[in-house]
Amino acid sequence: MIETEKLQPIAAGAASQLCIEPACGSRFGVNERLYVCPRCGGLLDVALKVQAGQDVGRPEQLRALWTRRLASFDARDRSGVWRYRELLPFPDDAPVVTLAEGNTPVYDAPVSATYCGLDALKLKHQGCNPTGSFKDTGMTAAVTQAVILGARTVVCASTGNTAASLAAYAARAHLQCAILVPRGQISHNKLAQSLDYGAAVLELDGNFDDAMRVIRELAEDESIYLVNSINPFRIEGQKTVAAELLHQRGWRVPDHVVVPGGNLGNSSAFGKGFRELKELGLIERLPRLSVIQAEGASPFAHLFASDSDDLVPTEHPQTLATAIKIGAPVSWKKALRAVVESTGTVLSVTEQEIADAKAIIGRDGVGCEPASATTVAGIKRLVADGIIGPDEDVVAVLTGHILKDTDYAINYHQDKLYTHDRAPDKTKEERRLAGTYGNPPARVKATKEAILEGLRRHEQGHPGD
Ligand SMILES: [Zn+2]
Repeated sequence: MIETEKLQPIAAGAASQLCIEPACGSRFGVNERLYVCPRCGGLLDVALKVQAGQDVGRPEQLRALWTRRLASFDARDRSGVWRYRELLPFPDDAPVVTLAEGNTPVYDAPVSATYCGLDALKLKHQGCNPTGSFKDTGMTAAVTQAVILGARTVVCASTGNTAASLAAYAARAHLQCAILVPRGQISHNKLAQSLDYGAAVLELDGNFDDAMRVIRELAEDESIYLVNSINPFRIEGQKTVAAELLHQRGWRVPDHVVVPGGNLGNSSAFGKGFRELKELGLIERLPRLSVIQAEGASPFAHLFASDSDDLVPTEHPQTLATAIKIGAPVSWKKALRAVVESTGTVLSVTEQEIADAKAIIGRDGVGCEPASATTVAGIKRLVADGIIGPDEDVVAVLTGHILKDTDYAINYHQDKLYTHDRAPDKTKEERRLAGTYGNPPARVKATKEAILEGLRRHEQGHPGD
């Protein structure tokens, strides 16, 4: 390692787990094996020394240290999460489980910017993580905590990006990984990853409630560690993306950061990350954090638009953006806190808007899974509504890689993308999404003339070119 001056890690012994419910506020040791507050059932936050006002080094010292680590080959320094370990609740000798996660690019996206009505737009692509989604930045922290707690088995109930990521990190740590899912609910692309990483994929007889019940029973076993969506250590890892983003931008704070909203853990993590950077004096203001949901799975957008202070779950969430097809987002209180304190907003976009935005992002040479494209669709709306000015500095966060859902892209480009599995009142044609920016393959003869003619037709057929 290349640290010359020894900066105090925030964590060492001083972090705790804090119930976020104002009426409770109970505090617990950082290594107590908890999932929710044992007193009131509320969500837990990892509270760091910085929040008790302790000095972890001057902002310029931290910035210089993090920049020096970019030239280091130490595995922790190569990780875009552990590079910022002064922000994490782990001791300096933590048994770090890493796949060199983070380090994701910030792309300039001129085609997407024009589409949104902006002068410029940046895309922070979290789909460029080792397993193809943003989940890796949280999983490196949660699986490291599992090792600290002496767990032999890690468990989650999902076959999506979370499962793929947990399976990979469990393999790295030589832990057994169990993925529990109700029978018949297997998501194919992501299942392939979990199988390759050696996880035990267990299909349960029963529904999702049965799966949750059996998981609560399993959690009583000391050798088993649950890595579910409310695991506070996942949020800790994910929050470092805020630091990496600011570091990549020379600590210039964007006006807006826009994220997709499903279970809302990612929004919560960005909120916590920016808040702590401000408390440390690394940034002087918060970017406005806005969350975009898919219309058919938008309980958080409904809550934000209403006077209510309680979230009403969506009973049958519907969207082709499966990564955010969530009716009862568990982290909504943390996400709401982040949006409100940064004066951001929440809205939902249609399936057509998501599909078109995804194809436009592709024209910038950047592929993403459908959920990620809610951001560009949402930004286009916010610019049209005058909430984002055309000359403002905007970052959209893409959360998953295009190869996570190839069927969606192929169907869109061939005008065969149909929405809403539960829409018995609509005909198939009414459920078809228009391939507005479709780019279907063409059959041509194997001659030079036919190929040149094919290219001419392709050029003429591209909108906006
Ligand atoms: Zn509590």
